[in-house]
Amino acid sequence: MALDDIYKEVILDHYKNPRNKRPLERATVSCTRNNPLCGDEITVLANVEDGTLREVAFQGAGCSISQASASMMTEAVAGRPVEEALDLAAAFRGMMAGEVEPTEERFGDLVALKGVVRYPIRIKCAVLAWDVLQESLAGDGEATATSIH
Ligand code: ZN
Repeated sequence: MALDDIYKEVILDHYKNPRNKRPLERATVSCTRNNPLCGDEITVLANVEDGTLREVAFQGAGCSISQASASMMTEAVAGRPVEEALDLAAAFRGMMAGEVEPTEERFGDLVALKGVVRYPIRIKCAVLAWDVLQESLAGDGEATATSIH
């Protein structure tokens, strides 16, 4: 099985069985954004306590890349300090720009998305969940829902 096929399996698995796709009653921050180019919409909900992302969930709809990326993102940042989550967001953007060589140690399942670099129109799909995460964390602890159309 080619490496690309393995990555495709990982993406499809997250798409069909999304992790942490649920409401989050204890959310202290949330944000909704969409990607009009593709019709993807993602809401990120997080419970932030003492500077740590205790719980992270998402809701939304869209293409497999956007939804799989959101699912992977929740797994990658849950339990981490906010600063580490933002560092990972920056590193993920770097990977999508072809500037950061992803390692499984750091990126886990997110490595599966590196093939998206070859499809510039899909990069927005892959980065959407991270944009929403950053935006919600920039809300400084207030639960706000902003939608950019
Ligand atoms: Zn998309």
